[in-house]
Amino acid sequence: MLPTVILKGTLIKKSQQKRRTSPCNYKERFFVLDTQDLTYSEQRPGKKPSQKGCIELSRIKCVEIVCSEVPIPCSNKYPFQVVHDNCYLYIFAPDNDCRQRWVRALKEETKCNALLLKYHPNFWMEGRWRCCYQTEKMATGCQEYDPMGYASKKPLPPTPDPQRRLSDPGRRVVVALQNYSPHEDTDLPLHKDQEYILTDSSHHNWWTVQDHRGNSGFVPCMYIAEKSCDNFNRFEWYNKDITRGRAEGLLMTEGKEGAFMVRDSRHAGVYTVSVFTKAPGSNGQKNPRVKHYQIRQSEAEESKFYLAEKYLFSTIPELIQYHQHNAAGLITRLRHPVSQGRESSQSPAELSGQWEVDPAELTLGEEVGSGQFGLVLQGRWRERRVAVKMVRKGAMSEEDFKEEARVMTMLSHCKLVQLYGVCTQHSPMCLVFELMEQGCLSDYLRARRGRMSQDSLLGMCLDVSEGMAYLESNNFIHRDLAARNCLVSCNNVVKVSDFGMTRFVLDDQYTSSQGSKFPIKWSSPEVIKYCKFSSKSDVWSFGVFMWEVYTEGRLPYDNRSNLEVVEALNAGLRLLKPRQAPEAVHLLMEWCWKEKPDDRPSFALLLHELASLSDL
Ligand code: ADP
Repeated sequence: MLPTVILKGTLIKKSQQKRRTSPCNYKERFFVLDTQDLTYSEQRPGKKPSQKGCIELSRIKCVEIVCSEVPIPCSNKYPFQVVHDNCYLYIFAPDNDCRQRWVRALKEETKCNALLLKYHPNFWMEGRWRCCYQTEKMATGCQEYDPMGYASKKPLPPTPDPQRRLSDPGRRVVVALQNYSPHEDTDLPLHKDQEYILTDSSHHNWWTVQDHRGNSGFVPCMYIAEKSCDNFNRFEWYNKDITRGRAEGLLMTEGKEGAFMVRDSRHAGVYTVSVFTKAPGSNGQKNPRVKHYQIRQSEAEESKFYLAEKYLFSTIPELIQYHQHNAAGLITRLRHPVSQGRESSQSPAELSGQWEVDPAELTLGEEVGSGQFGLVLQGRWRERRVAVKMVRKGAMSEEDFKEEARVMTMLSHCKLVQLYGVCTQHSPMCLVFELMEQGCLSDYLRARRGRMSQDSLLGMCLDVSEGMAYLESNNFIHRDLAARNCLVSCNNVVKVSDFGMTRFVLDDQYTSSQGSKFPIKWSSPEVIKYCKFSSKSDVWSFGVFMWEVYTEGRLPYDNRSNLEVVEALNAGLRLLKPRQAPEAVHLLMEWCWKEKPDDRPSFALLLHELASLSDL
């Protein structure tokens, strides 16, 4: 008998990550449920759909919605699970009705199978079940499974038209190109790469958008771009119609190490990354030139993109983002996106010169400390008390920093020490920060040793995990998280400081992992071995940070040299549980110190875990 189609429609599927190393991704797939199988395929405009997977219904052991509080990183926010063989397939529906239709229909078709007695109502994430905290993926479920759970509900309404969502004129989905901090009460903050609904574009500069919580407000229209799956126009690095010669011309004119762009290759559907470098050629001479790398696709079933064969990605934006942080086989990492026609595009901060501090508005006062870049003074700027870092000559790669200052002034969160701006007209150059009256956390901890409550220790970890979760959500890597780089405000709030700043230090002893000032004791194995920084290497440092908090400011591995620490880590040893740390906090530390970055939790998850400990 031929199978009959029961339900079909476009849903988002999470990759099953059968191999530990494969990156997690979310893809739109066209699902068809018939009386025999659940199949899903990729739909490409103008091409035949290509089938990506097929699950025989007889192999399905459980179908149920997923109840979770974790933020869902794709546009469909209604997850359900299909458990088959030894696999958990997570599928995301655009709304609850749609999810119920699928779950109900799938349950109906599979109710006579050999089913699970118990299932997991929450996600398997970061190496454990979020419902029962078991760390074995195949562990028995923690909630009874009811295969008839929907039997009493109303009959199914007609199958939705899968195109409806796209053609609905009231729902133009846009993506934030960068962060935006509101300047007026009527503005809405934007978070880079997050989606919003555009509700009014009639004003020529300020459009109204709505975020996922339903808050509405104005945003500068140049900060957002319409979302489209195969449209890279929203990325600063993409140049659609540009020849190889013009690309080389633009990059050579830019003349900065790592200036790059992605352009269409001569072969249809293929993209090329062009990057400028001054790295010495084979003759050892400096040799400014543009190198071109074609983005290739792997042969495997779920074909992945790569520039260097070891580093595979599901999408081109993910690949570019990775190589923006890691050279990984390229002549240089991709540092500065360059695009034609956008040379004059400026952010509002730049337009109003907001990040450039006028020296006439700045008054300098007493010294409050000194660090890698030089003295730090108290000061006043526009009615605010500020801390001013006076950058010693030769201590900082100033040009690179000025490039990045714009991004850094836009990172804005109550648990980050705000960079207000930079005074480049002052000599030496100075950086103007929010003043943190009680100085750095490591000194604060030591000065109060034996006098701090469990609540305040946990609160410090929570504060810093909040700031770090914000950086993580903006794909911003700190690179030097430690108690010495966190500061305390007058009302005892701990904030993250110095994020990303090590990139501008001109001191090999500090920047090279062999150097005497390199923070080995806070660094993850992959940073020590390959200088591979990521949010997950920040997570490792956060584990050491928690250890510092719970030992009230002791130095980690106090009596060991850097070399001894590296040997101990290689042998699988880790810092011991601080006496003051509850078992649950120690478990979180150990989770941060997993050898493999993928086995460590994200900051979003750490924040959630710490928040639930503080509720107890
Ligand atoms: P660097 O980045 O040059 O290494 P640090 O950030 O370590 O400098 O700052 C050195 C010291 O200056 C800190 O330990 C702290 O005491 C003080 N300091 C730095 N930033 C601030 C700030 N925003 N508010 C108050 N004090 C600060």
